[in-house]
Amino acid sequence: MGDCDKREKLKEFYLKIKNCEECELYRSRTKFVFGGGNACAQVMFVGEAPGKNEDLQGLPFVGRAGEILDELLDSIGFDRSDIFIANVLKCRPPGNRDPRIEEINACKEYLMEQIKIIDPRIICTMGRFSTRLLLNTDKGINTLRGKVFKVDSRIIMPINHPAAVLYAPSRMEILKQDFQKIKKLINSDSEISAGGEDILDLESETTDDKLNKGEQLGLF
Ligand code: URA
Repeated sequence: MGDCDKREKLKEFYLKIKNCEECELYRSRTKFVFGGGNACAQVMFVGEAPGKNEDLQGLPFVGRAGEILDELLDSIGFDRSDIFIANVLKCRPPGNRDPRIEEINACKEYLMEQIKIIDPRIICTMGRFSTRLLLNTDKGINTLRGKVFKVDSRIIMPINHPAAVLYAPSRMEILKQDFQKIKKLINSDSEISAGGEDILDLESETTDDKLNKGEQLGLF
């Protein structure tokens, strides 16, 4: 699929789903937040759900968490035009409450289709909801963050949600370290190994089997 095809396909998909009423969140949303960025990016970031500012503007990560994400991207010489950002939920949960299971189930195929169209080499899951969904695990984010997994020939790397910094400023240092790992992953041309070490392969075993091994990759 050529670059323009990806952009066109994403746009077509957006037009198809933007009036979604598959869960109750459509009743309270201002705008449907499809996601945004470079349709041809090799790195995709997946957050949780739109907040107040995102709901008003229809764009992902435009509030305070977005400022932190921008600072982190800048720390590795990236900006929004280098990546694509999406969320597990496309509509804001009232009062920014946690997404509910029925909302995630109603929305997850949208994210999967975005991943299929963009076909990124690397996906960074930000926070527990996107990490649990894409690694199919109930393990905690603090166990998984900074580790690198291979799922369906893609690399998945969970990191803390940038909003965590708003509550615990010391998380910024951890996020900065994890972004350095992301930079190394981007610069490594191999999908399966780097520095001779294997990436955890989730294809051939169940996710929990793999995650229960819980080993860091030794990539970095
Ligand atoms: N937090 C998220 O998870 N997503 C956004 O788009 C904004 C804040």
